[in-house]
Amino acid sequence: MPHFDVDLFVIGAGSGGVRAARIAAGHGAKVTIAEEYRVGGTCVIRGCVPKKLLVYASRFAHEFEDAAGFGWQVPAPAFDWATLIRNKDAEIARLEGVYRANLDRAGVTLVQERALIAGPQTVHLPASGRQISARTILVATGARPHGLNIPGAEHAISSNEAFHLARMPKRILIVGGGYIAIEFAGIFAGLGSRVTLLHRGPHILRGFDDDLREGVEQAYRKQGVDVRLNLTLARIDKTDSGLAATLSDGSRLEVDEVMLATGRAPYTDGLGLDMAGVALDQAGAILVDEESRTNIASIYAIGDVTNRVNLTPMAIREGHAFADTVFGNRPTRVDHTLVPTAVFSTPELGTIGLTEAQARERHPRLQVYKSQFRPMKATLSGRDERVFMKLLVDGQSDKVVGAHLLGEASGEMIQLLGVAMTMGATKADFDRTLAVHPTAAEELVTMRTPVA
Ligand code: NDP
Repeated sequence: MPHFDVDLFVIGAGSGGVRAARIAAGHGAKVTIAEEYRVGGTCVIRGCVPKKLLVYASRFAHEFEDAAGFGWQVPAPAFDWATLIRNKDAEIARLEGVYRANLDRAGVTLVQERALIAGPQTVHLPASGRQISARTILVATGARPHGLNIPGAEHAISSNEAFHLARMPKRILIVGGGYIAIEFAGIFAGLGSRVTLLHRGPHILRGFDDDLREGVEQAYRKQGVDVRLNLTLARIDKTDSGLAATLSDGSRLEVDEVMLATGRAPYTDGLGLDMAGVALDQAGAILVDEESRTNIASIYAIGDVTNRVNLTPMAIREGHAFADTVFGNRPTRVDHTLVPTAVFSTPELGTIGLTEAQARERHPRLQVYKSQFRPMKATLSGRDERVFMKLLVDGQSDKVVGAHLLGEASGEMIQLLGVAMTMGATKADFDRTLAVHPTAAEELVTMRTPVA
């Protein structure tokens, strides 16, 4: 048996890498993990977690307005961006500490520098000049924002910088129609910025159910977000008062910030993958099999760097499955098909399973249950808002094949619908479930008549 310095070397201490390292160590492996930035990765440091804190902050604007209908007199609220960012940073630092402590407790060695692959079983640490041999290497380097190749792109920010702006922009142009663009448009609109959302397609959130896509667009327009569709950004110029954005129709927009949320690319550049002969796809993502193994037997990859389902819980699941398979003698494959997910727009959306368009193609006897109603809170607050719910049922098996929600707490609801659907729930199962009254969620078990 050849001797290796470590059994497992993990490159990237984000959600997936950390989970893989801890579980492998729990199975008795000697593990080292390298991180060039901060422990916790995108989700903890500059993604899901700080984003959700900003979402909470943005929703107070509605709460203050709504309070009057319930008898509260709230003095004109004032918002301080610096306080929010400071408090958010303190919480993120605390969480990073928790991640470090967990690695330490699991017996994983952390090296805080960039690691490169030097061969199928060799990692090079350029900063300290070390070379480490590893029986297995796991690449978990995630993805990075990719901007646009237009004049003046250097004046734009990505979500990375949005978390650390010195001042809140009074006017912001957000480019893109995916998760990040939609969530940040809601955040900045709630906090009081004038938001223009620019998307190249006919509707935002491609890939989501059409009713949700249009529902979010309508809700954003009602809140004053200037949603501009079928347009792209042509250039950005610096002006005395900020930035001037020129759009593809020739119109110009004066703003304080331009944020590009036009997607993320797998972080494989300069990692040395070519030194080991690891195969990539055309987008630069690492190609892996169902057990996250690359074409090189000793190298595995998980999470966004493989560009499968780019969500934190999936990276964690893949990392765990990898560690169980390779070090726990328990081969485990991850199901990438039934994925509950939420977009933390305001109102937020939750979704799982097939969209109506997909379900129509696959299930000839599709039944569509839809409900749209004014949430109870809006009766006294007077807020002009609607909750939307849709269940898609295969008429042949009675199985629920898709669920799509738009409205308060949709993220929470879709998590629990995920349990039911993972168990293979039928519409009859929903029907025999007793309602919880009065809630919005009770509508999910009281929809009786299909609309189509
Ligand atoms: P997405 O892939 O979700 O969206 C990218 C958007 O940018 C799309 O609307 C796309 O348009 C548009 N776009 C791409 N290229 C261009 C271009 N050249 N010019 C104009 N528009 C362009 O990426 P995000 O950056 O929003 O998010 C990255 C990943 O992070 C997502 O995959 C998501 O899974 C994850 N994430 C998850 C969150 C959650 O779970 N709540 C929150 C935030 C991120 P088109 O649709 O036409 O392709």
